[in-house]
Amino acid sequence: GQLTEFKRLEFKNVSFRYNEDSPYVLKNVSFVLEAGHQVALVGATGSGKSTILRLISKTYQDYEGSIQLNGIELSELSVDDSNHLFSLMMQDTFLFESTVHFNIALGKPEITHDAVRQAAKYVYADQFIEKLPEKYDFKLDKNGSNLSIGQTQLISFARAVAQGGQVMMLDEATSSVDSITEDLIQKAMQRLFAEKTVIAIAHRLSTVRHSDMILVLENGVIVERGNHDEL
Ligand code: ATP
Ligand code: MG
Repeated sequence: GQLTEFKRLEFKNVSFRYNEDSPYVLKNVSFVLEAGHQVALVGATGSGKSTILRLISKTYQDYEGSIQLNGIELSELSVDDSNHLFSLMMQDTFLFESTVHFNIALGKPEITHDAVRQAAKYVYADQFIEKLPEKYDFKLDKNGSNLSIGQTQLISFARAVAQGGQVMMLDEATSSVDSITEDLIQKAMQRLFAEKTVIAIAHRLSTVRHSDMILVLENGVIVERGNHDEL
């Protein structure tokens, strides 16, 4: 049945390649994420950061080594068993051609308008939403093309919080965003890092400063680990 409470995620010597005839993009990756803690993934483009999140979300199944969730091998759990524990914020958020409200609540009737607003406030997304014509009823174009990239990222943060997962998985966009939105994203990241269980790809020192563990990836290998003071 479903897991009800997130306790611990452990990677033990995990190696992974996308195809049998392509090179390994993760090599012997080991780390632990405990409830209430934060793990930050840093490293150059192509170093394997997003791949780690894709394995946790079971987008790909055929890893080598062991990934355990509360002591159970991930490959023995169904997507439904594990996925409600995680709120995933990926670089390329899927946005619906619908209202801001719908995109945060994902159409779930039990997520009330108050809950949507609270989630948006929590990640500082309400500041720009309140300025939109029709605010939470503002209709997004296909792929959110009538919003900035930074704004779509704030909506995906709000969605993750509203969906109520116990672990926040964040893949912070690298795309250049305007400085005001950038500021809001940083404030949101810092709040999530201070208050939630998080595994996140972060691009700024100010965000990772507050994480318990920073993993530095290079070509699929963890070359350094420690908190901000240790590195
Ligand atoms: P970025 O900072 O650019 O987002 P990343 O650290 O998240 O980079 P990954 O997306 O994890 O990097 O990619 C790691 C490696 O795996 C790269 O060499 C990439 O080209 C390769 N890769 C990623 N996705 C696929 C895929 N679907 N099929 C084959 N190879 C892939
Ligand atoms: Mg990535």
